[in-house]
Amino acid sequence: MQFDSKMEIFRTQKTLKQYLSTLNEITIGFVPTMGALHQGHLSLIKRAKEETDLVVCSIFVNPTQFNESADFENYPITHDKDISILENASCDVLYLPENVADVYQNETDFSVDLGFLATVMEGEKRPGHFDGVMRVVKLLFEITTPTKAFFGLKDFQQYSVIRKMVSDLGMEIDIVGCDIIREENGLAMSSRNALLSKTEKKDALVLSKTLKFLQENCKEGDIRKFLIEGMDALFKISIPEYLIVAESKTLKPVISLKKGIKYRAFVVAKIGNVRLIDNIEIFV
Ligand code: AMP
Repeated sequence: MQFDSKMEIFRTQKTLKQYLSTLNEITIGFVPTMGALHQGHLSLIKRAKEETDLVVCSIFVNPTQFNESADFENYPITHDKDISILENASCDVLYLPENVADVYQNETDFSVDLGFLATVMEGEKRPGHFDGVMRVVKLLFEITTPTKAFFGLKDFQQYSVIRKMVSDLGMEIDIVGCDIIREENGLAMSSRNALLSKTEKKDALVLSKTLKFLQENCKEGDIRKFLIEGMDALFKISIPEYLIVAESKTLKPVISLKKGIKYRAFVVAKIGNVRLIDNIEIFV
């Protein structure tokens, strides 16, 4: 079944839930976003359209997942543009909450032990970030009742966290990971790219170039030499926070690769004041 009519926009969870309760026997594909939409977000909408009957997108800059107030305050907001992008992408429903309280009004306590996931990379560098992500995503799942939810592999650790949450809480939602969409020059698309100057945008290429370098060079055996060379390249242009190759399944960092195990390289670096994140698959 496909919905051809104009996109419905809901500013409160009450009206959205009412609308969804009138629809029977349909599969719902949910795409949570923080707005400032780009082709990366659109690839998620497209995938959701292919795999489900009704696509629900949310735009909500969630304060509980920001560990730096300046990052939250500077987050780009482009609602009018986002709405027309979603309409052109034939998104069926948009949840654009009128305020933070609308999302959090029915919150109940829960706990998920992320274990190692909470202590590595973003878990270590952004204390409380994944607690905020889980809080909001669980609430958004309860509001939108999706059959499938679509997440970008650009935030690979977030994708892993959501899969763990859904599994531990016994939520019957299929979590679909979608490929990273890049500019032609390799830069991973991100809402935060809008905060970069023209020169900084060029400098930002050091992230994807370093990942590509690791992808081309890291094979079976010791990879320390390549991690050091990659880190050197990052330091020349950016303020790197980490450059790690880890097992895709556990996110356990490694310095030596074995055949038969899947790995990804992960990088976070600041260009000026903008913190950028990217990752790539490593083929042993
Ligand atoms: P955000 O609005 O940054 O919270 O992102 C919303 C969703 O879009 C998340 O699942 C992201 O992983 C995904 N996303 C952001 N950028 C990209 C990209 N370049 N390619 C694929 N997915 C992306």
